[in-house]
Amino acid sequence: MERHINTIGVLTSGGDAPGMNAAIRAVVRSARAHDINVIGVMRGYFGLIEKEFIKLTSSSVSNTIQRGGTILKTARCTAFLTSEGRKKAYDNMVEAGIDALVVIGGNGSLTGAQLFAREYDLPIIGLPGTIDNDLYGTDSTIGYDTALNTIVDCVDKIRDTANSHDRIFFIEVMGRDAGFLAQNSAIASGAEAAIIPEGKTDVDQLAEFIERGKRKSKNSAIVLVSEAQKDGVGGALYYADRIQKEYPQFDARVTILGHLQRGGSPTAYDRILASRMGYAAIEALMEGQRNVMIGIKNDEIVYVPISRAIKMDKPINKELISVLNVLSM
Ligand code: ATP
Repeated sequence: MERHINTIGVLTSGGDAPGMNAAIRAVVRSARAHDINVIGVMRGYFGLIEKEFIKLTSSSVSNTIQRGGTILKTARCTAFLTSEGRKKAYDNMVEAGIDALVVIGGNGSLTGAQLFAREYDLPIIGLPGTIDNDLYGTDSTIGYDTALNTIVDCVDKIRDTANSHDRIFFIEVMGRDAGFLAQNSAIASGAEAAIIPEGKTDVDQLAEFIERGKRKSKNSAIVLVSEAQKDGVGGALYYADRIQKEYPQFDARVTILGHLQRGGSPTAYDRILASRMGYAAIEALMEGQRNVMIGIKNDEIVYVPISRAIKMDKPINKELISVLNVLSM
């Protein structure tokens, strides 16, 4: 049944990502252009359950497009995993007159959105907000480009010290289930190798790559490692330790970039992506779309059923693996 939308809620959930503020701004201003009221929900699903609502106007989002983090705060909310928690969230939405919800977050947040929308027949639009770039149906997620640039900046700095001491650096980056950050930052920083969850890493082959790099003009080497760990295998510490034990001629060091990858002012690319997606979220609601994630494919806005966005694996382009292998020779 088609329903008129007077008021929408917007929230950010899961890990924060640079560009979330640009997305909130775009949602608020596009909604206001259609005379739709906007309620900001603080701290993701937690705020929905605890009724942490604030009224958002066009001026509430002034001076936010360039800011990292999220002005609505974010949280991981275990209560939303329960049907009682979601019932409370729904009752609060009804009480506040919220007719539809825009959820900005990663895979987990959209999984919650999908369940909620099914249980309560609610129009929900998802925006892919995660630095991991692991959502199916969109070429890029909000925050990925900024995180990638931050990593490359750090690797450039580490390269200076790696060179000065003839060291091998294992640099761990985020991406538990997806290697986009590790693979692409390795290409962009001229690293010797990337260890990603989508690939199999053979330590002898890794040693060969490092040796190859050292034989060239370089006396140091950089290996980008996704944080992914399975049964105690994986992560920069694990690989550095193995290399050091099996190839004691290498002087291996580890840097874990951690949360600095999430911070900082969004790149122009992420600001534009977030602005287009936030605008598209309201257009989608106006068209009567529901339970879709906004994606961008080949520079065109697409509506991806949330069920597909969260269930399908986003494959890493195999060409990227060949590019790194050939160019690091
Ligand atoms: P990131 O990609 O940065 O990790 P994310 O959105 O995947 O972000 P999660 O911690 O997985 O982050 O999920 C955020 C929140 O979404 C959870 O704290 C929970 O409130 C909700 N959520 C996740 N999975 C479910 C689920 N199966 N059912 C209901 N709610 C869920």
